Amino acid sequence: MAKKTIRDLSLKGKKVLVRVDFNVPMKDGVITDENRIVQALPTLRHIIDEGGRAIVFSHLGRIKEPSDQEKNTLQPVATRLGELLEKNVTFVPVTRGKALEDAVNQLKDGDILMFENTRFEDLDGKKESKNNPELGAYWASLGDVFVNDAFGTAHREHASNVGISSNIGTTVAGFLLEKEIRFIGGTLEAPERPLVAILGGAKVSDKINVIKNLLNVADKVLIGGGMAYTFFKALGYDVGTSLLEADKVDLAKELLDLAGGKILLGTDVVTAKTFDPDSEKNIRPVDGIPADEMGMDIGPETRELFKKAILEAKTVIWNGPLGVFEFERFAEGTKTIATVIASMKSTATTIIGGGDSAAAVIGFGLEDDFTHISTGGGASLEYFEGKTLPGIQCVDER
Ligand code: ADP
Ligand code: MG
Repeated sequence: MAKKTIRDLSLKGKKVLVRVDFNVPMKDGVITDENRIVQALPTLRHIIDEGGRAIVFSHLGRIKEPSDQEKNTLQPVATRLGELLEKNVTFVPVTRGKALEDAVNQLKDGDILMFENTRFEDLDGKKESKNNPELGAYWASLGDVFVNDAFGTAHREHASNVGISSNIGTTVAGFLLEKEIRFIGGTLEAPERPLVAILGGAKVSDKINVIKNLLNVADKVLIGGGMAYTFFKALGYDVGTSLLEADKVDLAKELLDLAGGKILLGTDVVTAKTFDPDSEKNIRPVDGIPADEMGMDIGPETRELFKKAILEAKTVIWNGPLGVFEFERFAEGTKTIATVIASMKSTATTIIGGGDSAAAVIGFGLEDDFTHISTGGGASLEYFEGKTLPGIQCVDER
């Protein structure tokens, strides 16, 4: 990897600015999923153990008006972080000013503080999320070095990532960002072949550039989920009441032509008459979907077909559930594919990106059996598209 990481720095006595992604789901001030906090712990522990003085910050939710502030304070996150680190985390309830500067100056080696939600700065003129240059320079002035560990916002140019980086001498990747760069960036650049990509999810329109880029780099692209029906339509089949993007049928045709046989679409689907967890299921060949039925999952023959293709891979990239996995009855395709990939732990590099795909795998209890589950939703999609992400670009080269 060509990017500098936290391993390349001596941290002792340094004021270390750390951008993390603590944009955790909350309900009534209670954190409902702390995965993002847990994922940041190795970086924070490393800084503390090395005698750095950690100044930690993140965004949380969106701040459009003053009333959004109260429900998006990072105070509960700082409390939970302290519990997980078994260490006092000083929470500074502002994003700038004397209180923050004093708290920073009082830090001793190995101490950690967290300041308030960076997006509180969005209230007048979107300063944070528009990468206001003065704000980035101000935050940069608080520290000696900058560690970016927030992959979830790496596809955005904000004051708290790119802004700080352009105003400080040293920017490195934290362990989490390093992992994303190694597994997604590294795999797309130089995959061990065969590379099989599996694409599903709801809509073709969300994933056009992902499909295009993966058609370039993958040896085979398996398509399931809601987006498959636009492709079936492009092949001239009737898709009943399935999810269909009529305005993307021509594009699907183009992609099929472009793919030169790389795309595998499957031969059968599981259908239902209504979009309902208890709806009766039928198995239909892809060219025999009745007018009053919708495709909810890949069929049993397709599961086998996909399984066979996947098992030949040395690298697997997966984005998008293969069916409506939220309904137990229609989760079988997604579950089968997740289980197959999980079984390849020791023989292949296996990578999952996408919020719902990650949630599905975690729901099946298979999260430890993948090489890498990306922590970014939008960011991992843009990375799969082959885009340069500003939050990665701003990290110093080795
Ligand atoms: P990700 O977040 O992993 O990128 P998406 O957001 O693109 O995935 O898609 C996830 C959604 O796609 C899920 O809510 C799932 O129910 C839906 N989906 C999958 N297959 C179908 C289908 N056949 N019909 C309708 N929706 C589907
Ligand atoms: Mg999604």
